[in-house]
Parts: sequence; structure tokens; C-alpha cells
Amino acid sequence: MKDPIIITRHLTHTYQSKNAGPLQKTALDDISLEIERGCCVAIIGVTGSGKSTLVQHFNGLLRPTSGSVMVDGIDVDGKSADRIILRQRAGMLFQFPEAQLFERSVYADVAFGPRRMRLKRKDIRKRVLDALDLVGLPHEEFAMRNPFELSGGQKRRVALAGVLAMTPSILILDEPTVGLDADGREDFYTYLKRIKEQQGVTVVLVSHDMAEVSTLADRLFVLYDGQLVMQGEPRSIFARGETLRAWGLAAPPLNELLSLLRKGGMTLPDEVSTLDEAFDALKGMRTITEKGQV
Ligand code: ADP
Repeated sequence: MKDPIIITRHLTHTYQSKNAGPLQKTALDDISLEIERGCCVAIIGVTGSGKSTLVQHFNGLLRPTSGSVMVDGIDVDGKSADRIILRQRAGMLFQFPEAQLFERSVYADVAFGPRRMRLKRKDIRKRVLDALDLVGLPHEEFAMRNPFELSGGQKRRVALAGVLAMTPSILILDEPTVGLDADGREDFYTYLKRIKEQQGVTVVLVSHDMAEVSTLADRLFVLYDGQLVMQGEPRSIFARGETLRAWGLAAPPLNELLSLLRKGGMTLPDEVSTLDEAFDALKGMRTITEKGQV
């Protein structure tokens, strides 16, 4: 890999229960992976497979029981001063982040992180306004609003702006659209794509929604019972529908349909994996059939 920003080597994490013995849980078992700078990866797997535990190592919230994790050149098990830098470089949006909005204005909420970084007022202001614009909440209209008056999707984008205002090089999102309605989800992903393209930030997405990860992620990592069982580009992973099912997952409906059509003898090119590509390929086939009949 050219320029990995996250590298784990033999990462194992065991949660220690206060009571000794069988209550120990190995949540991650010997995970070695690399994530390329500037790309978007998704960690997928059923509930309890270890996704949250894994990404909490990427910003130093958890430390390895054994093995190592390097993030943007920082050893997460290293000095505590390094871990403070790490928290700024690897920004994390937790599940249901709107629960953590507490200031009276959107501006104050987004400014919370940069203020703690002790930046100058003028720099804080620039970061807040830029972050609001990036998430599609124009600052002229939203900065002075009360966050509690906003829609669910807007609140979540305020929380995202709060993370972006710290100018992280890695953005970690744990199930970022859970609980949003269809419009809220679509808007969130539209702005996320824009942020990725404009800021060149590396995005690590935890999700169980295969359709969403198929449009966003350049690479998928599949976890099952704490182990990394498969990794690759979405189209090659989704082509292995039966294997995925063994791990409690299912490829998006379109990929399932394409697999069935291929199994049924239709010769669809390998690169067909999106709805548009499927339309084009099928339209092309119909023209040939129609011509054949004439
Ligand atoms: P996922 O994010 O894929 O749902 P998690 O990383 O949350 O998975 O959990 C992986 C495993 O570790 C699960 O069996 C879970 O019950 C266990 N686990 C998670 N957090 C703790 C904790 N704080 N203490 C003990 N066990 C935990």
C-alpha cells in the first residue's frame, strides 16, 4: 500500500470483566489491516462482531490488549501527549451524536472543540463557519439557531460539523445514519461525499447498511466474531453473496439480483455493479435480442 494512514498489527482486544473467568470477552482477535490515506473504508459485520471496538482503537479510546495500532504516525499505546494529538487527528462521530448537543446556539456547539484547542477567536470563527457550510447548514441561516429546534438530520449534521471544526485527517463515523428518516440519510451521505472530495479526509465508516456502504466505500472490511474474515472492493465482496450470508450479512438487493441473473446464464460483464451500469448492460442486451428477432 502506498501511504497507509492506519495500520494494525495482530490487534487483539479482550474486555476484562470485574469478575474473573468466563466473563472475559475477546472482542478482537489478531486483526492486521491497513487503511490508505484519503480513501473511504467501511467496517461491516453483524452486531457484536467487534466493529465499534475496532474503531475505538483508531482514536485512542481503547488500547490494544496485544498487538499494535499506528494512526497517522502515532502509536495509540504510546505517550499520553500523543493521544491528545491523536484525538484531534482522528475525529469520531458516535452513534446518536445529537444527544451530546447541549449549547444554546449551533455556533456554540460547533465551536466547543476548537475552543478546547485554545485557538484564537478569529480562527475558531473561521473553522465554525466553514464546517457549517460544509455540512449544508449555511452559517448565515443556522449559526444562531437553537440546535433543539432543528430536524433530526440537521442536528446530526451539526454534530458532524463539530467534529470537522477540529480539522481531523481521519473521520470515524459509527453507524452515522441510524434513526434518521430516508431524506435525513440521503442528505447526510450527500454532504459526507462532498466533505471527502473537498477535504481529502480519510473516512472510516461503521455500518450494517450494505446499500449505503456500496455507494460510498472504496474498500470493505468484514468482521465476524472478532476476526477479520474478508476485505476488498465492494463489488468483489458483494459478488460473494453466499459467503456473506454465512457471516450473517447480505449483499445489496441489486447485487443479489445480478448474481442470480449471472447464475441463470446471462452474460453480464464483471464491472456491472451499480443500477446505472445494470440498466446500460441490460438495454444493450435487449437491442441485440430485438435485432436478432428482426
Ligand atoms: P459491534 O460494534 O460489531 O456491535 P462491539 O465492538 O460493540 O461490536 O462488541 C464486540 C463484543 O464485545 C460483543 O460481544 C460485546 O458484547 C463485547 N463488548 C463490547 N463492549 C464491551 C464492554 N465494555 N465490556 C465487555 N464486553 C464488551
